[in-house]
Amino acid sequence: MKILDGKKLSNTLKEEIKKEVSERLIQKKKQPHLAAVIVGDDGASLTYVGSKVRSCKQVGFLSTLIQLKSTISEKKLLNQINKLNKNPDIDGFIVQLPLPKHISEERVLLSIDPKKDVDGFHPTNFGRMALELPSFIPATPFGIIEMIKRYNIKTSGKNCLVIGRSNIVGRPISILMSQKKSYGNATVTTAHSKTKNLIKLTLNADIIISALGIPEFLKANMVKKNVVIIDVGITRVIDNTNPRGYTIKGDVDFTNVLKKAGFITPVPGGVGPMTIAMLLKNTLIACQRKD
Ligand code: NAD
Repeated sequence: MKILDGKKLSNTLKEEIKKEVSERLIQKKKQPHLAAVIVGDDGASLTYVGSKVRSCKQVGFLSTLIQLKSTISEKKLLNQINKLNKNPDIDGFIVQLPLPKHISEERVLLSIDPKKDVDGFHPTNFGRMALELPSFIPATPFGIIEMIKRYNIKTSGKNCLVIGRSNIVGRPISILMSQKKSYGNATVTTAHSKTKNLIKLTLNADIIISALGIPEFLKANMVKKNVVIIDVGITRVIDNTNPRGYTIKGDVDFTNVLKKAGFITPVPGGVGPMTIAMLLKNTLIACQRKD
C-alpha cells in the first residue's frame, strides 16, 4: 500500500509555481493576481477562501478577497463580476459556492469571462475540456489527474469507477479518465444515487474515485486487493473529543480499506490540498496566456 500524499505533492507544486513567479518577476512580466468573491459568512466557505488567499501569498501571487453581504442582490453581484471581468490586473477569479438561495448560481457562473474562469465551471471551459481543447480544468479533477501523473499510476485499460456525478468533480473526472491521454484511457463507469448493486461495480474496479460526501461509505469488503482509491469526500462529523467540535471524514473507511489498497489518498491531506494547488496553477496559466 502506498499513501498518495496530497499535502506533500501540493507543496512541491507550490514550490514549482513560486519559482515560475520569481522568474516572471525577474523578466519584468506580470505578477499573477487571483481574486475571490465570497457572499455571506458561512464558516466552511470562509475557511476555504481563506486558505486559497493564503496560498496565493505563499507562491508570490497578488490576491484580492471581495466579501459581500448575504443580502446582496443578484444584480449587484453580477456588476461586481463584470468589474472583475474588465479589470486587466485580475488574471483569474472565483466565486465561492454555495451562493444564497435568492441568487442564481447558473447566471453567476455564466457571467464570468471564460478566460478568467480559473475554477473551470463555465460551460465554455467545460465543453473545451470535454473536447480536449485548451481550457481551465476544474481544480479538483485537475488535482486528481496531477496526482495520478506524479505517482505514475497506470490507468490505461483499467476499470475506473467514479462515484458521484456532480458538475465540479464526478462528471469532469469521468470525462478526463476516459480521454485518450497518458493519464486516461481507462474504462470509466459513473455511479450515482440511482445506481443499483454498487458493490458489484466497486469489486470490479481497479481505480475508485469517490465523490459523494457520505463519511466512510466505502468499506474494505467492497473493494478488491490493490485497488487505487482516490477519496474526494469531505464531511464534517460531530466529534466532541476534538476542540473544534468536529472531525473531517472522507467517503472511505480509511483504516480498513488501507490494508487492501495499492494506493490510497487520506482525508484530510489528499485531494483537498491538491485542489488549491491546481487553482493556483490555473491562475498562473491565465496570466501566462496574456504574455
Ligand atoms: P454532490 O454533493 O453535488 O453530489 C453527490 C453525488 O453523490 C451525487 O452525484 C449523487 O448522485 C451521488 N450519490 C449520493 N448517494 C449515492 C450513493 N448511495 N451511491 C452512489 N452515488 C451516490 O457532489 P460534490 O459537490 O462532487 O461533492 C462530493 C463530496 O466531495 C463532498 O463531500 C464534498 O465536500 C467533496 N468535495 C471535495 C473537494 C476537495 O477539494 N477535496 C472538492 C469538491 C467537493
